[in-house]
Amino acid sequence: MTKRIVPRPPEDGRLARIARGIRSLAKGMRVTMGYFLRPSRIVTEQYPENRATLKMTDRFRGNLEMVHDANGDHDCIACGLCEKACPNASISVLCTKSLAGKKVLGKYVWRMDSCTLCGLCVEACPTGAIRMGREFENATTDKASLERVLNRKEGRS
Ligand code: SF4
Ligand code: SF4
Repeated sequence: MTKRIVPRPPEDGRLARIARGIRSLAKGMRVTMGYFLRPSRIVTEQYPENRATLKMTDRFRGNLEMVHDANGDHDCIACGLCEKACPNASISVLCTKSLAGKKVLGKYVWRMDSCTLCGLCVEACPTGAIRMGREFENATTDKASLERVLNRKEGRS
């Protein structure tokens, strides 16, 4: 097989390269000056300085949480559908039995380290007892803190 020789494109002269560099610099400076003169157009968040006022968007998913009312009660009926729906086995619904023999929630354990925040558990829940939360400062060196109990109280019988 014969090797095809592709000719190299002619190189620009020195002046053309300098002119190209100046044009590119001017383009960058125009953008920089635009934001300098109109700071309201800047979209970059000054994190962590704005930590107190920073609001995540409605669709942001940072954690899983159980919805509680003012009395600290929740609507989880310990059906286990969220546990079954989770592709990563990140949820354990540990049940107990009420005096009437009814299944009630004992502990709702969520493991953040294996959760991909896909939201399938929330979709599967028939009572709306869980939802995706907007926590975003979840980095830690304490692995134990990645396993959370989401219910504040045992379920109601
Ligand atoms: S968000 Fe997804 S990965 Fe995380 S616990 Fe729910 S179903 Fe599992
Ligand atoms: S959170 Fe919802 S789906 Fe999961 S056990 Fe409780 S009621 Fe069932």
